[in-house]
Amino acid sequence: MTTNGSNHVDWQHVSGRRVIVLGSTGSIGKSTLDVIAHTRRTLGEEAFPIVALTAQSNAELLAVQVREFRPKLAVIGDESRFAQLRDLLGDTETELAAGHDAILDAASRPAEVTMLGIVGAAGIAPALAAVKRGGIIALANKECVVAAGSVFRKAMHASRATIVPVDSEHNAAFQLLDFLQSHAIDKVVLTASGGPFRSWAKDDMASVTPEQAVAHPNWSMGAKISVDSATLMNKGLELIEAHHLFGLPPDKLGVIVHPQSIVHCLVSYADGSTLAHVSAPDMRTPIAHALSWPRRMASPSRRLDLAALAGLTFENADTGRFPCLALAQASLQAGGLAPTILNAANEIAVHAFLARRIGFLDIARVVDRALSAPNLLDGEIEDLEQVLELDSRTREFANDEVGRLAA
Ligand code: NAD
Ligand code: MG
Repeated sequence: MTTNGSNHVDWQHVSGRRVIVLGSTGSIGKSTLDVIAHTRRTLGEEAFPIVALTAQSNAELLAVQVREFRPKLAVIGDESRFAQLRDLLGDTETELAAGHDAILDAASRPAEVTMLGIVGAAGIAPALAAVKRGGIIALANKECVVAAGSVFRKAMHASRATIVPVDSEHNAAFQLLDFLQSHAIDKVVLTASGGPFRSWAKDDMASVTPEQAVAHPNWSMGAKISVDSATLMNKGLELIEAHHLFGLPPDKLGVIVHPQSIVHCLVSYADGSTLAHVSAPDMRTPIAHALSWPRRMASPSRRLDLAALAGLTFENADTGRFPCLALAQASLQAGGLAPTILNAANEIAVHAFLARRIGFLDIARVVDRALSAPNLLDGEIEDLEQVLELDSRTREFANDEVGRLAA
């Protein structure tokens, strides 16, 4: 069937999918709702019915989203904001709830697609709840895979969920990888923009401000991932994410700095072929891919104009100037508890940097100290409880280190 010259038959098929957006007020959440709004303008208001929207503290924006997207349920994580949400939405039919358990309830409701757009380890439990329920898990939150690694993998294999990565490099890899010929994969290379300090001397980074660090050259993202991109920790977390999502050993995973963020991932095969995924740096492309997978649908994302680009360049990552990448690579090699510690210490350090308590180069110092703290490296992580316990012990340790550095 053709409407106005464009073939909508496939999108109509997928647009009946019920969607949950966890972290709807964040950068990923807003882009997800933008893609859905775009589809609704073409196919009507019934497209992608929303089961639940959740946010941590921005009740105003959540209320605006509820009025536009009419979810069945809206949850605010911070219970002290519930009264505000209720006042803003007293006249709607949407069920309103607050607190961590209510977010888990939202993540578990019946739906075909769940967008995991929560930032940080706070996304671990909701992610596992969604994986257990099944369907398409549109995975933006990388910290849950890094911190809960083997637990996440076990849950993924035990469920009927399909993880469609939304992180742009992993979404690209997901599209490029020939899972039936995994023995013939030589290397998966993730590109890194290099962030705002790509060409800076290390000493000059000592005094950078949060404003400079979050000013990403190519992507507009939340504060935490923007700082991670500036330290290159983001690429390190992504290597660990790729290891778990694609079941590839560390020596088959690589990183290359590509400042234009046009090529997102390169997959090399045994026969000498290298496949690359290219697109404009716009998260609405991988989001639309996840919403419609295994089909494709239109998205409002920016289009690529290769002729307008001066050129595409590639260079090796410098772990001397960006020690967070080296710490993450070492954690990937070490496995076990290291990635959980790496992630938790990094979250605390990044928040402390954003709060101007420690300097930019202190982020790597805090993570390094946590990774070599003997009392943290003790124990096992075989279930969610153990992951959360190690996460919280590491946070305490990292907070103490922040206190020392800030003094
Ligand atoms: P963001 O800070 O803009 O948004 C985070 C969302 O999570 C908000 O809706 C917030 O309310 C919610 N949230 C925060 N703390 C929470 C808590 N304790 N409990 C429940 N909800 C909480 O972040 P973002 O940039 O949208 O990133 C979200 C995730 O996606 C991150 O894991 C990030 O690494 C990943 N990611 C983002 C991008 C991007 O372009 N923004 C790209 C790739 C991957
Ligand atoms: Mg990425």
